[in-house]
Amino acid sequence: MSLADPAAAQNPKGPPDAALEHARKLLRSTPLIDGHNDLPWEIRHSKTAPRDVQAYDLRARTPGHTDLARLEEGGVAAQFWSLYIPGEIKDSGYARVQLEEFDIARRMIAAYPERLSLALTAGDIERNFKQRRLSSLLGMEGGHAIENSLGALRSYYALGARYLTLTHNVTLDWADAALDSARHGGLTEFGKEVVREMNRLGMLVDLSHVSPATMSDVLDVAEAPVIFSHSSARALVDYPRNVPDSILARMPKNGGVVMVTFVPAFVSSEVQAWEQAEAAAGKQVDSIVTDSIERRKRRDAWEAEHPRPQATLAQVADHIEHVRDVAGVEHVGIGSDFDGITTVPVGLEDVASFPRLFAELIRRGWSDADLRKLAGQNLLRAFHQAEATAARLQATRQPSTQTIEELDGPSRPTS
Ligand SMILES: [Zn+2]
Repeated sequence: MSLADPAAAQNPKGPPDAALEHARKLLRSTPLIDGHNDLPWEIRHSKTAPRDVQAYDLRARTPGHTDLARLEEGGVAAQFWSLYIPGEIKDSGYARVQLEEFDIARRMIAAYPERLSLALTAGDIERNFKQRRLSSLLGMEGGHAIENSLGALRSYYALGARYLTLTHNVTLDWADAALDSARHGGLTEFGKEVVREMNRLGMLVDLSHVSPATMSDVLDVAEAPVIFSHSSARALVDYPRNVPDSILARMPKNGGVVMVTFVPAFVSSEVQAWEQAEAAAGKQVDSIVTDSIERRKRRDAWEAEHPRPQATLAQVADHIEHVRDVAGVEHVGIGSDFDGITTVPVGLEDVASFPRLFAELIRRGWSDADLRKLAGQNLLRAFHQAEATAARLQATRQPSTQTIEELDGPSRPTS
């Protein structure tokens, strides 16, 4: 399907799509804030010119999901660029890779001064939107980056990080991850101190990727709204990266925002089941075949016999409506994970496709007021609130100098 003309793709022969026109108009009058896009990592690992932000030219059509023209077409007003670093790195430590990710993102933002602006506050997003400039926010993905140091956390804030996803896929010394074994039953005492210090700084606590027990512990200690930068609803797809209803129900009291993601396996039970079966089949092949070419052949044969199902835009809309129904319309947002996923739902192929999702919700009867909340007003409210909390806390609380040894004891369990 051609992405050059999404209106035509949506409605190949028929009259202009009124809902889509309505969606485009709405997104010109209200900021759309996407919670998660992995473009900096995509640039880092570009096949042709890794780490070269000039070569990965956003003024041209890129091989990935994101470029300037498609951001414009998608009506994106503000993007949290994810500064993801793998939790599995064991070479010279996490800080080097994390700092390189800051460098790539900040060079990328600086390369398009006519279009991109670094945004550090909710007010920056509002100002940039009025000036038709795309706000670029930095979100760190993976608390391993702070290497158990609150001083490192503060330094990353000073470099511009405005959220930290507490874990990625690996359980830390102070927080359990959703996709790893639980070692703490949630947060340790030091983990709670990390949350308190983030609240004091005004850095949003991102609960995507943590275990439900960690989510619950954070909500117990959080003084400011949390976010989920890219998670969907666990009641619809029972995947550990999704948010259980018991946590969704706690959003009104906390003030947080669950930014629904497009990751196919989180959105569609069929895709999730297929991925599990595919992994199991792959494991089985590996256990009986050692030759890598033969392994590839057998895996391809399996896939030919078991075609991959596709997630759909309508399923993403179902997750948005579920979060609205359980958490409330004040607590739902969008966190695509574009450029962090290799497959996409049908209808949500890249950053140009957001208006189609809004068109679907318009057809389902969503009011303009609710669509504005979903698009960005909820995130702006939570961000403003986190800033106000930080100002209040900074008046009475000094930067924490606590260490993990002081709070959790000298002999912590290791993985
Ligand atoms: Zn992620």
